[in-house]
Amino acid sequence: MIPDLSWLLTLAAIGFIVVATVLTAIRPLVVDREKSTRKPTGTKRERLTSGIDGAHRIRLRITERSLDTVSVRARALGIVPGYQYVFVCDQLLASLSESANRAIVAHEVAHHRGWHPLLRVVLLAVALIGWPLAIASGVPYALVGGIGALPLYVLFVCWIERQTEYCADAYAGKQVGYDSMINALNYLKKTKSGRQQSRFAGLLATYPSFAERIDHLKDSAEEDDNDQGGLE
Ligand SMILES: [Zn+2]
Repeated sequence: MIPDLSWLLTLAAIGFIVVATVLTAIRPLVVDREKSTRKPTGTKRERLTSGIDGAHRIRLRITERSLDTVSVRARALGIVPGYQYVFVCDQLLASLSESANRAIVAHEVAHHRGWHPLLRVVLLAVALIGWPLAIASGVPYALVGGIGALPLYVLFVCWIERQTEYCADAYAGKQVGYDSMINALNYLKKTKSGRQQSRFAGLLATYPSFAERIDHLKDSAEEDDNDQGGLE
């Protein structure tokens, strides 16, 4: 590739990532304005967040509807400290026990604690900027290597996304109780829309299935029990 073109593509990629970062940062503010959202009362917030480490730092909002067309009923959005939001659908809160509600909130708080929304932008930046930059810098076989590595990178990103879900579930299990998180997932599984995914689609999925998440949580609960063996 012509070196100048590679540098141009690198600059374009940097520009794109800057825009993506800004959009990721302001998205929760837009959602908060556009969707019918409301701030929970002090008592409600206390009930939804008590005992969850890191919950005091997030802005909690209750939405009247799901956040988008794929029926996302709870979501962690935002990357700027002080403007990191957790949105939870009213209908979901009304359908679950108080402890399962707290588990849902704890799961979303875990996404912020782990900087998962920012991680998405970073992973995109690594590929989008890294590739043309490697070509422009004259790294041997960067063009062909990048083409070959792209599908693997996509699979890697999907895998990372699924791991963040397991991590957030485990955090909620630890903070609120594994049974509470499992109850919440069982309800989400029972009431989800959409079809069962194939094994191949599962590799490209950014979310594990609810059944996989429940199995993982059961394993984490057992590991925790073993770790605490003999201790009160
Ligand atoms: Zn999640």
